[in-house]
This record gives sequence, C-alpha cells and structure tokens, in this order.
Amino acid sequence: MKDFNKFIKTDLDELKRNNLMWPRKILETASVPRAIVNGKKTLILCSNNYLGLTNHPKLKNAAINAIKKFGVGSGSVRIIAGNMTLHEELDKKIAEYKKTEAAIHFPTGFAANAGTIPQLVSKEDVIISDELNHGSIIDGVRLSNADKMVFKHADINDLAKVLEEIKSKEYKRKLIISDGVFSMDGDIAPLPGIVKEAEKHDATIYIDDAHGEGVLGKNGRGLASHFNLEGKVDIEVGTFSKAFGNMGGYVSGNKDLAEYIYNKARTFLLSASIPPATLASCIAALEVIDEEPQIIQNLWSNVKYFKNGLNEMGFDIGKSVTPITPIMLNESDVAQRFSEELMREGILALPIIYPLVARDKARIRTIISAVHTMEDLDFALESFEKVGKKLGVIHNK
Ligand code: PMP
Repeated sequence: MKDFNKFIKTDLDELKRNNLMWPRKILETASVPRAIVNGKKTLILCSNNYLGLTNHPKLKNAAINAIKKFGVGSGSVRIIAGNMTLHEELDKKIAEYKKTEAAIHFPTGFAANAGTIPQLVSKEDVIISDELNHGSIIDGVRLSNADKMVFKHADINDLAKVLEEIKSKEYKRKLIISDGVFSMDGDIAPLPGIVKEAEKHDATIYIDDAHGEGVLGKNGRGLASHFNLEGKVDIEVGTFSKAFGNMGGYVSGNKDLAEYIYNKARTFLLSASIPPATLASCIAALEVIDEEPQIIQNLWSNVKYFKNGLNEMGFDIGKSVTPITPIMLNESDVAQRFSEELMREGILALPIIYPLVARDKARIRTIISAVHTMEDLDFALESFEKVGKKLGVIHNK
C-alpha cells in the first residue's frame, strides 16, 4: 500500500511540475452564459451547451414529471430489470431524429464508443481511424482485436492510400472511423470523400457526431444531413451531453445493429440504465429542436458575429467551420496566461495545451452558444482584444 501511495504522489508531483493539473472551476449556478464560477460572476465561453438546453423549461418540467411518475432510478441494468417505457421511447425518438431504422442509448457517449467499436470487428478485420479522433474512439479501438491503421487528419488522399495498402491483406471487414466535428479544431470530417472511398473498398462507415448533432444540418440533424448524405453512414454515434444539454450517448443505424449492441456491448450490458429524469429530458430535447428551430439559427448568427470580430482583430482562429472556435496561440504558456487574464476580466475560456494538442499548437478554445446575448458577445470580444494586445498576440491596427 505504501508503494502505491508513493507512486500516486510521484505522478501527481510530476503533473504539478509540468503545469498539467486541471484547476477546479466550481459553478455555483446553473450552466448559463453568466454563471457564478469560484464565487465570481463569469461569462462562460467554453461550455458544450450549444443551444442553452441545460436550463430549458420544457426539459426541466419533463424531468420533474418523470421523477414524480417513475422515481429517481431505474433499479438495474436494462437487460435485467431496468428497462422502463421511457428507455424504449428514447431509443425510438433517437431513431426518428436520425432517420434511421433503430437506435440504442448508453449512459454516455464515451460508453457508446468504448462499448460498440470492439463488438463490430474481430481478428480478421481492420479499423482505419482519423489521427485526431476523440479519446473514447481511441479507447474503443484499443479494446478491439482488429488490426489498427491511422490516416492523416481529414485527408482523403491518405485514407485512399491506406485502403490501397491493406488490399493485399484481404481483411474480412474494414471499418472507417471518424469524428464528425473535431472537438479541438472545430473542423469537420470530409464525409463525401469517406463515402466514396468506403464504397470503392467495401468498407463500413462509423461517424461520431457528438459535436455535430443539434448544430449542423437540417434541424441540427448532424454531419450526414449537412452533406445531404443521410443513409450513407452505417453507424452513427451521438451524445446528449453537448447540444442537448444533458447526458447519455447513443448509436443509430439499422435494426440488427441496435439489437446486436443491446445484446453484446459491455458498457451497455454491465452499466445501470439512465434514470427517468434524464430520459424524459433527453426526449424533450429532441422535441425542442424540432419545435424551436430558431434556437439553431440563433446559435449560427452568434457564432458568425464572434468569429468575424476575432478575425477583424487579427486573431488566428484556425480552420473551424463550426461553433468550436480555437484562438491559436501556439505556445503553452501564452495560452495559459491568456486564459488567466480572461478569468481576471470575468471570462471562462480554458487553454488547450499539450498533451490534448501538439506542443506547438496551444490555444484557447471557445464555444459560443445560442443563448449568449449581444452584450455577452461584445463583452467577450472587447476582453479578447484587451488581453490579445497586452500579451502581444495582436497589435494595434
Ligand atoms: N465523442 C466526442 C467526439 C466527444 O467530444 C465526446 C465528449 N468529449 C464524447 C464522444 C463523449 O461524450 P459523453 O460526454 O457523452 O461521454
């Protein structure tokens, strides 16, 4: 035991020395644009709450009513005694939203990736994965017995090259996996090219659209809808933890896929099912995005306004085409100082540094939401300008 404690302490000290500890930011209010963080009124610019649904009255009422009717817990995993009508209803609602035959939800998006990927492939198969895929995909890939190949980020030529290279190995199944929206850069997967290559090489497509759903495409239906390629992605993963302001992951696709996952995915089989309040508010979230499409329009007009402002000031905002907007600062200590200065101004926008991104690609990552007001956006832009000039990142025009 002593050895164990020593090992933890040494590792922790190493994290501290390298400035890699996550400082705790404590919200004393709901997750709203102007929240109280560590005792101070703060404008939040780094939440995944794209549509402001964490605090939407319809979602809150749905949760309260579900608790009154079904209690607070499901009592079990779904396959034993924890499968309520609400669980079945949520699966159906997701399938309707995704326009797929079926869907199945998990406790989280992480669990959806970690549980699904290992069941789709085995020893005779290969996974071909974008180099910047999310950590939950990477862990899912690690848990599988298939061979693993990586293609250069969002690079169709490289994907084609990898597919050509592996032809001679005569794998039984080939699974191409990509994030829909890449969470560090805000760029998107080149889906038309992926579909073309997959068709040419008889590969299956798996897209994790965690940051695309509720944001891209018609009524926020995600990446496939954005490219008019609905029906071309075999397996789609999503989460309620971003635009839907809640919690819970899901996989959508054909009926057999959903039935297979229900019976095989270990993170599904061995984890308690989602509680009633969460189920009911996820169902309500899917209704809200159909009933109030204006919210998504508000999101995009806020995002455009903020990106334009940053561009005009001379910030490098990378290649983002989504609400995820990185402010590229390259050096880790500049990104950290930038974030501290913003916090002093009353703005929460975290620095993203190595090991989350390459050592020379440090940045501040922002996400503007549909419920930021013009006043919030102007305050944010003024503060970015002030800090940018103070740290010599931008210059007086
Ligand atoms: N996939 C991607 C691309 C993500 O960004 C995230 C969240 N960071 C997840 C999966 C995990 O989702 P959840 O929060 O539901 O576990």
